[in-house]
Amino acid sequence: MQIVSPAALPAVDKVLAFAGVQALAVSHGRKPTLQAVRTVLGRLRACALEGSLPADALQEAALTGAVAAVLKAADRPALRAVFNLTGTVLHTNLGRALLPEEAIARVAEVMRRPCNLEFDLAFARRGDRDSLVEPLLQELTGAEAAAVVNNNAAAVLLALDTLARGREVIVSRGELIEIGGSFRIPDIMRRAGCKLLEVGTTNRTHRHDYADAIGAKTALLLKVHTSNYVIQGFTASVDEPTLATLAHEAGLPFMVDLGSGTLVDLSRYGLPYEPTPQQALAAGADLVSFSGDKLLGGPQAGILVGRKELIARIKKNPLKRALRVDKLTYAALEAVLRLYRDPDRLPARLPTLRLLTLAPEEIEQRVQAVAPTLANTLAAHASVTPIRLASQIGSGSLPVERLESRGLRIEPLGGARGRGRRLAALEAAFRHLPTPVIGRIADDALLFDLRCLEREAVPAFLDQLTHLSLP
Ligand SMILES: *Cc1c(COP(=O)(O)O)cnc(C)c1O
Repeated sequence: MQIVSPAALPAVDKVLAFAGVQALAVSHGRKPTLQAVRTVLGRLRACALEGSLPADALQEAALTGAVAAVLKAADRPALRAVFNLTGTVLHTNLGRALLPEEAIARVAEVMRRPCNLEFDLAFARRGDRDSLVEPLLQELTGAEAAAVVNNNAAAVLLALDTLARGREVIVSRGELIEIGGSFRIPDIMRRAGCKLLEVGTTNRTHRHDYADAIGAKTALLLKVHTSNYVIQGFTASVDEPTLATLAHEAGLPFMVDLGSGTLVDLSRYGLPYEPTPQQALAAGADLVSFSGDKLLGGPQAGILVGRKELIARIKKNPLKRALRVDKLTYAALEAVLRLYRDPDRLPARLPTLRLLTLAPEEIEQRVQAVAPTLANTLAAHASVTPIRLASQIGSGSLPVERLESRGLRIEPLGGARGRGRRLAALEAAFRHLPTPVIGRIADDALLFDLRCLEREAVPAFLDQLTHLSLP
């Protein structure tokens, strides 16, 4: 192999004049192509200075190919689709809920065309954007009124800022939660300008703990659904009807942060039970907050439902304006809420529920569909073995429950030496595919849980395996 010096590098103009590079300038634009040529020549210069630049790299075809590769990489969107084979269905880092086609169509329409976001079509006057989903939320939860903000963290912040600024909020010590991404209930309270009054102990809180804490400065009793952990063993907490009665006797509102909010009893689909806003309201809660993109299966949003008078105050808070959501969120949320009007067909229509209720046998079919090709592709590098797995619901929903699943265990071949490095390289190879494949590393292997590999996506998944760049 002949090594060349930096002096052998062609000028930018010369590379730009290559027929292949001219064609790239037509398809990608002149300026991005010029930039790509500079990038390529810069890299080659660095190699040449190290004394490691082969003369072959300066041939027209090689240079053109390198410029095309730089342009292609630059065109790839930063935010793009991946295969979620982590086994966590509602994965916060992978975008949580997948939206139903109905919602996608509604979002596309309001992106393309003007819409009545804040225009009351009945009376030709300014409207309230929350009124687009309020009737559905009233119907589905039994609430008197509803408001929507950017996420549930914002909903909690806004509710506390409106109802408890400068005053005290009573919460059980067992519910002072931190959610991933450092959402901590005590921090939110501080931001909302209210004083946290912790009552009880980590594992046990009683009615009298709350009762003793109520005083002249109390603004609110708050119950937080401990969505991402459970306290087991010698435990006691106070149920919602008791807290509601206690709050109301003192003339105070009672709020429940449900975290995940499902609007149906999930046990009817064979899933673990999760409390619903309609139940919290029926138990006497005056205000309930929950997420749009957890078990609800909709867009990122925070939903507040409850008493008309409290929601009216919340809507008047200037912070509401700062935390409001756009037309895309309302379009998607409305479409998703509509699906809840027909719970019988929900698992077929709502992707989150469809994925959560997949039978192990259905997932097994996907394992059978991908295992042979995967094993062939990896033959010289890793073994591929079908295994039983346990999927998680994710996003702090139903933390201890696991769903029986199926998947593949991919183990690097060879002895113990360098095994960790080979495993990391295998994981990276899948992560660097055109549509990145995200699995998880556990028990010295790369695990793919196939629950979230939809049947229609199997061909695309297999096709791109030819791009795997294995060491
Ligand atoms: C997830 C969660 C939140 C935050 O909801 P986001 O929609 O992620 O902002 C707040 N409280 C509880 C109890 C949660 O589980």
